[in-house]
Amino acid sequence: MIAGYLYLVASICFILALRGLSSPQSAVRGNLTGIIGMAIAVVTTLFVPNGLDWLWVFVAVGLGGAIGTVIALRLPMTSLPQLMAGFHSLVGMSAVLIAFVVLLVPTNYGLGSAGSIAATSLLEMGIGAAIGAVTFTGSVVAFGKLQGMIGSKPLVFPLQHKVNMALGGAIVVLLLLFMATESSLVLLALALTAMALGVLLILPIGGADMPVVVSMLNSYSGWAACGIGFTLGNILLIITGALVGSSGAILSYIMCKAMNRSIFNVIMGGFGETGVAGATGADGVERSYKAGSAEDAAYLLQNASSVIVVPGYGLAVAQAQHAVQEAASTLSKQGVNVRYAVHPVAGRMPGHMNVLLAEANVPYEDVFELEDINRDFAQTDVCLVIGANDVTNPLAKTDPTSPIYGMPVLEVEKAKTVLFVKRSMAAGYAGVENPLFFKDNTMMLFGDAKHVVEGIIKAMD
Ligand code: NDP
Repeated sequence: MIAGYLYLVASICFILALRGLSSPQSAVRGNLTGIIGMAIAVVTTLFVPNGLDWLWVFVAVGLGGAIGTVIALRLPMTSLPQLMAGFHSLVGMSAVLIAFVVLLVPTNYGLGSAGSIAATSLLEMGIGAAIGAVTFTGSVVAFGKLQGMIGSKPLVFPLQHKVNMALGGAIVVLLLLFMATESSLVLLALALTAMALGVLLILPIGGADMPVVVSMLNSYSGWAACGIGFTLGNILLIITGALVGSSGAILSYIMCKAMNRSIFNVIMGGFGETGVAGATGADGVERSYKAGSAEDAAYLLQNASSVIVVPGYGLAVAQAQHAVQEAASTLSKQGVNVRYAVHPVAGRMPGHMNVLLAEANVPYEDVFELEDINRDFAQTDVCLVIGANDVTNPLAKTDPTSPIYGMPVLEVEKAKTVLFVKRSMAAGYAGVENPLFFKDNTMMLFGDAKHVVEGIIKAMD
């Protein structure tokens, strides 16, 4: 009874945490509320009579906690998306393993004796295991793509959608068979088929579309936990899983809208397939570009009346946010109107740029979303693009064969002068060359973003 109330308090904390995380201003409070909720949930679960051996519980919590702490302390901020994918895969795998444990010793979970488990419980178990298996292998592939171990180009093969549909059909048949037989072999076949589907769903998705995949796998991991919550009869797991599942689904929808993709294609997998003919300098034509120095950039910026800064993944790699904020506030003091334009998929995770800018104390009112600022580039003197590439690439508007075609982009080329800060002429994450680098009003500033911006600050002095 008391456990029920405490679970309710924990659930309310999680809901408030989600609400807090919806804006950078309240994100820290949201995180703290989530931590409090999680502490209540874990402690309550430990004290619920469950016949568990305390020694094993402490060994597992200690080991998991130690590994988590080491990873969190050593991991660079830029690897967070991979970490998220790794965590999602663990949630998926636990759902599969828990389904097997419950099937083998159902009496421990109040599901009757082996051989006489209710069909509805078997259905919950099977669904939880299937979603968990898809999440597990899908997340492993996503990890490989984000880590650069698997190429970011879409991997497509003939009959892909038909194979996926056949696997989906096989999962339904195996689920019914599992309900009829309660066989662990059938559950194993179900899990393996779902694992194959997980791989095939994520492999064909191109680099540019990975934001949708990350949020979608987040959602799947929630539903897997929710399904297993039903099997274990744990209300908190059901609520938490449903919260993660539905918030992940909403985020996927927001990401789809930001990328101008259909949610149906995402769920079916393979919406990156149009991108096989990537445009990375494929024409082999040598084109000229202008490269400038920090002094050139400082001169242009100080003589501008309006500047828009466009941050991207390179800003995160270089950890240049503090230097950028310093340069912007120096310019503001000199009477230049400086604003920031944030693309919804800039960086490698939803809200990545907002977090970095907030960390550097950039005022929230200076940060604008794509739809609120895109029209202003035409009236802007200088656009300072820092480590961003795909999110500015105009091929998204003009080249139907490009993997990023259809994605709304920041129209930086409309500014009088565009300064691109990056280390080379290399393409962005989607592997598509950016034609803006060769335009007359573009100046390339080569180097690590932090060093280049520090050079600009020095030159402005
Ligand atoms: P991009 O990956 O397109 O471009 C980043 C650029 O930063 C690169 O071209 C690189 O060029 C440059 N760069 C890297 N390191 C440094 C450095 N130290 N100093 C200066 N420049 C550097 O990033 P965008 O933010 O423009 O776009 C995000 C891409 O990631 C999109 O394709 C998006 O779909 C995808 N994605 C987004 C996710 C999200 O949730 N936001 C998740 C997964 C993928 P160079 O090597 O020449 O320096």
